[in-house]
Amino acid sequence: MTEGTKMTTETRAPKILDGKATAQQIRSEVAEGCARLREQHGITPGLTVVLVGEDPASQIYVRNKEKMARKAGMESRIERLPETTSQDELLQVVGRLNDDPAVHGILVQLPLPAGIDEHRIIEALDPRKDVDGFHPDNSGRLLTGLPGFVPCTPAGIVELLKRNDITLSGRRAVIIGRSNIVGKPMAVLLLRENCTVTVCHSRTVDLPQVAATGDILIAAVGRMGMVTGEFVKAGAAVVDVGIHRVEDEETCRRLFGDDEARLAAVREKGGTLVGDVNPLEVRDKAGWLTPVPGGVGPLTIAMLLKNTLDAAERSVA
Ligand code: NDP
Repeated sequence: MTEGTKMTTETRAPKILDGKATAQQIRSEVAEGCARLREQHGITPGLTVVLVGEDPASQIYVRNKEKMARKAGMESRIERLPETTSQDELLQVVGRLNDDPAVHGILVQLPLPAGIDEHRIIEALDPRKDVDGFHPDNSGRLLTGLPGFVPCTPAGIVELLKRNDITLSGRRAVIIGRSNIVGKPMAVLLLRENCTVTVCHSRTVDLPQVAATGDILIAAVGRMGMVTGEFVKAGAAVVDVGIHRVEDEETCRRLFGDDEARLAAVREKGGTLVGDVNPLEVRDKAGWLTPVPGGVGPLTIAMLLKNTLDAAERSVA
């Protein structure tokens, strides 16, 4: 490659939407809010995370949430329950936490073991403590524009776009995925920001062409590297929600080319993380891109802390 072409490639690389930096900003604002609440009302926001069973990924997520909540100046607890916990036992724990005035936010880590109805548990949460924003009361509030708790991942994505001065009003947004925790609330939030929103899913016909109409493209599909160049409009802001672990060199090269740091992570640490977007494929098309890791993931936790602070503030309002 001549020096000239190298320059062109570099110029075309998308700007990075740095979720880690935005999350850090949000966490310091939350820490200030916690200090203020303590000073003015003698209240420390309390977050309890309920973890049922031993799912290894959930163990890591829950520990991170606890650590970050403590760092922001909150009281943070993990309520660990055995895999054999029955639905009634879990409902009792939720009831106890609903009644505990020191607990402002409750998060039941999903997925729950087989035999426990997720919807039943979420509906049992006091909506005023539902900091994940999954209770139907909060979903309805989001839909109708009333104050309530908004699911953390899509709320974090809106913060990321706005704080990086990505214009939303009047622009076309395409979301791939229609889950209750990402795709659907994302659509409502972007509508609220005056985007023209298209939601795609597994039955969408001509998916790449539809996706490529988006000035903003949100990939929340749960399929490693599925979003390739043909899905992306030139200059679009691409937000990658997916999290997957790449453990072999061939796949790593397909996603990251000759990126030595990524290849070294696969060889020496056994893997590296990637999302639903193939970064190598979209780099010449996207104007902005969230990295994985360091994109959407840190924002999800930051928004959980923000929701917990809001819950504590509302408890004294
Ligand atoms: P779900 O599995 O609940 O939803 C996936 C969505 O993608 C569904 O609506 C599904 O369509 C659609 N879909 C699946 N395959 C295709 C396809 N081939 N073409 C078009 N659409 C398809 O996933 P989530 O929304 O919970 O999560 C999505 C990803 O984001 C996962 O990788 C997850 O790990 C990650 N995630 C990351 C978070 C973070 O903090 N970074 C937080 C939450 C999730 P249909 O409805 O028709 O089945």
